[in-house]
Amino acid sequence: MPSRSATAVAPPPADPGLLPVGSLPGVGPALAATLGRLGLERVQDLWFHLPLRYEDKTRLTAIADLHPGERAQVLGTVEAVERGFRYRPQLKVAIGDDSRQTLLLRFFHFHRAQAEQLKPGLKLLCYGEARHGAHGLEMVHPQYQRVEGEAVAMDERLSPIYPTTEGLGQKRLAGVIDKALALLPPDAALELIPPALCAAHGLTSLREALLYVHRPPPDAPLADLVNGRHPAQQRLAFEELLTQHLSLKRMRAAVRRRRAPLLEGPGALRAKFLAELPFRLTGAQQRVASEVLDDLAQSRPMLRLAQGDVGSGKTAVAALAALAAVEAGWQVALMAPTELLAEQHLRNFRHWLEPLDIAVEWLAGKQQGKARASALKRVAEGAAVVVGTHALMQEGVAFARLGLVIVDEQHRFGVQQRLALRDKGLEGDLVPHQLVLTATPIPRTLAMSAYADLDVSTIDELPPGRTPVQTVAVSNARRAEVIERIHAACAEGRQAYWVCTLIEESEQLRAQAAEVAYAELSAALEGRRVGLIHGRMKPKEKQAVMDAFKAGELAVLVATTVIEVGVDVPNASLMVIENSERLGLAQLHQLRGRVGRGAIASNCVLLYQPPLGSLARERLNVMRETCDGFRIAEKDMELRGPGEVLGTRQTGQLAFRIADLARDAHLLPAVQQVGQTMLKQQPRAAERLIERWIGAAARYAHA
Ligand code: ADP
Ligand code: MG
Repeated sequence: MPSRSATAVAPPPADPGLLPVGSLPGVGPALAATLGRLGLERVQDLWFHLPLRYEDKTRLTAIADLHPGERAQVLGTVEAVERGFRYRPQLKVAIGDDSRQTLLLRFFHFHRAQAEQLKPGLKLLCYGEARHGAHGLEMVHPQYQRVEGEAVAMDERLSPIYPTTEGLGQKRLAGVIDKALALLPPDAALELIPPALCAAHGLTSLREALLYVHRPPPDAPLADLVNGRHPAQQRLAFEELLTQHLSLKRMRAAVRRRRAPLLEGPGALRAKFLAELPFRLTGAQQRVASEVLDDLAQSRPMLRLAQGDVGSGKTAVAALAALAAVEAGWQVALMAPTELLAEQHLRNFRHWLEPLDIAVEWLAGKQQGKARASALKRVAEGAAVVVGTHALMQEGVAFARLGLVIVDEQHRFGVQQRLALRDKGLEGDLVPHQLVLTATPIPRTLAMSAYADLDVSTIDELPPGRTPVQTVAVSNARRAEVIERIHAACAEGRQAYWVCTLIEESEQLRAQAAEVAYAELSAALEGRRVGLIHGRMKPKEKQAVMDAFKAGELAVLVATTVIEVGVDVPNASLMVIENSERLGLAQLHQLRGRVGRGAIASNCVLLYQPPLGSLARERLNVMRETCDGFRIAEKDMELRGPGEVLGTRQTGQLAFRIADLARDAHLLPAVQQVGQTMLKQQPRAAERLIERWIGAAARYAHA
């Protein structure tokens, strides 16, 4: 028997999770390379490669009980086989079962041998998604196997379906994961959240949670697993949310460790600016501005999100921040996601700042040749304020003394882009302060997680004298009445927007659709001047049209969604949005925000093409019921999920493996608490959690 002291001095076993996947039996270099493409490099990456969903092949569904859209397993006998060549090769196999119904199996890709095997009388066990076909229910490319004799080999448990890549089938991947799971250590070695915190927040065994989600037992509650509410999934979701929180906090801490220029001064420029403004700041604007100014007067970089509903007056707050930087002798970059919005800022800033003798420079993607070269030169020589699009972040743009970066409509820029501009570096170690403006109010729960690296200020008050926009939804069948209504509004001296919304298609198609609507309205509204604006027009042309509309020379402006953000014409009090059923809530709210800017009562007509789907109907109802951006954002998150709300889906920032911010929002307060304690008491464990969940991606990002 080994002595106690011998065990006590033995080195702790190496963490099996850190072994390369190639050390697992049966994983050669080729398989390891394939796994590498999925970011699976170490054994622990396999532990945390979680199923996307589950397939239930533990039971049979009678064909008569199949529901379209649901996946199910059926056992049937082949009744007929047909090979067709209409349009493309096709194999159709009709099967029937005891429920005396027929199901059509349809294959577009198949081998000749496969087709020849399938003969009437053969028994097949199939799994797939049932859907409506031309002749009743069908399954396209179901999985199937032949059944010999009476015994049907069904699964004992749910089968996990993993994210995978070409050349790696589910079975093979599941096999590798099994081998990795065999190395899963006891909780004491696996758990990174300190035991006291686990106990305080009722977190159960991590080891068991992993085993459960990878290999649910035969009696696992399917419904819970499918909707992600099983305790094992919630345990893992907690850890994943915690990891995201920690990683954002770490990013923030890294920036905060650096130094930023002190942007403070007597405030003479701000005082002059405020004296010239034709209005008084609202209380909310004043509060947010002073939060920003306080930050700027620190040598720690500001990381602040100023959120405020459409029309709440974020631009004036941005101008105050810019003035503080300029007064202290530093440059300001103001970046907007679209050219039109950037141009609007340019005009506002020129209008406000040039009388104060502050140069405002323009830098956009379309700028070429000499104009661009001279703009770059002036930026490099220290132009005080530079306004532009993402072109500001491009290679070759160098600032002399960038002290403040203002990013408008943040939700369209990813964290990465935000960082890129911040890294447009400075003298020595200094980094610029950063102010992010967004008109899409971010629900509190999201602000706590997705924006954990930013402080949040909220402009929660609209300037006085605004009237809520009356909103109605009208079927396209009543288009003529809507046009009549525009006539009436114009007769009263009001102006109207007509917004054409084609999504997905190209800017060219969008422009065409707008031209068609323009022709229709010009003909229908005889005697009224109608203008047209779309993204394919040159900035000068767009400007001329906008100016004419602003000056009241145009009664109606037909536009694509280029006017979505920032356009400001107070006398425009009627807005018609075509195909409104295709737009998301955030976009509808942004568009509607173009009216209701003056004291005149405003209206919004949401034209839709019936029949309305239930989701679209719900969205239009929300729009009719409220003008409150926060309510709309909460609803939007409920209906679409947070990835979409934040516009981060493409950047993959919020591509969780198991967590779902909307579903798991109830976990966030505890996530925050645990996160705070861990960062203070166990920073090393926090690092390892990030390694574990973000792994390859994080290593890459920090390389
Ligand atoms: P957003 O927050 O949507 O960017 P803007 O900054 O474009 O809003 O402001 C919308 C409109 O309200 C502009 O015409 C702006 O001049 C005006 N505005 C801003 N602040 C006030 C205020 N305190 N009182 C009156 N009008 C204001
Ligand atoms: Mg704005």
